[in-house]
Amino acid sequence: MTNKTITLTDQLYEYILNNSLREPALLQELREETALDEMAQMQISPEQGQFMALLLKLMGACNTLEIGVYTGYSSLVTALALPKDGKVIACDTNKEWTQIAKRYWQKAGVSKKIDLRISPASQTLATLLAEGRSESFDFAFIDADKEAYSDYFEYCLQLIKPGGLICIDNVLWSGFVVDETSNDPDTQAIRAFNKHLHQDKRVEISMVPIADGLTLARKK
Ligand code: SAH
Ligand code: CA
Repeated sequence: MTNKTITLTDQLYEYILNNSLREPALLQELREETALDEMAQMQISPEQGQFMALLLKLMGACNTLEIGVYTGYSSLVTALALPKDGKVIACDTNKEWTQIAKRYWQKAGVSKKIDLRISPASQTLATLLAEGRSESFDFAFIDADKEAYSDYFEYCLQLIKPGGLICIDNVLWSGFVVDETSNDPDTQAIRAFNKHLHQDKRVEISMVPIADGLTLARKK
């Protein structure tokens, strides 16, 4: 098949940023502070954040799930895109990183919109189901430990309303998905997840080559 997707050189990437990025000052500040951390590459890219904000607004999303908060970039993007009464349930296990997230949510005036649950995400999602929250969310962003992606997806599919959207991050995993010499557990998990989702008739999908690869899955 002919590849019609443009190869993104550094110069073209810069062009995209220069001609489309509208990153709010506070998100830029959070990016700069996070850059000092050795795990900063885990943060989503700014144009991906802007894309997700656009999706949230198009959908009129109000209740969302965030699986993998880190220093809070994607959760802050989400909270800013939601209406006043919007709510994000944000899952992470790390108190240190999410302390930074909390500080920025506060600065942005969106703390009330974000309910941070410090626990393994599977536990938080299981609790939500047990509390009768199935089919009550509009949107979910899956971006935590890769080996649990399939579990998170199954939980999210139950928690999301029909017509709701699940976004799954890092589906191209720096290109390792096609590198036959890479067989570490994360790469294997992402490959298996992608393969499985391709056949999953419960959702409509699109694998978008933005940042490290983002799959959109709409629940039928
Ligand atoms: N979306 C974030 C990046 C997330 S990085 C951003 O935009 O910046 C992945 C996060 O998943 C880390 O913060 C890590 O602590 C968290 N994580 C790893 N294992 C987890 C688990 N079992 N449950 C919940 N969070 C987990
Ligand atoms: Ca990610």
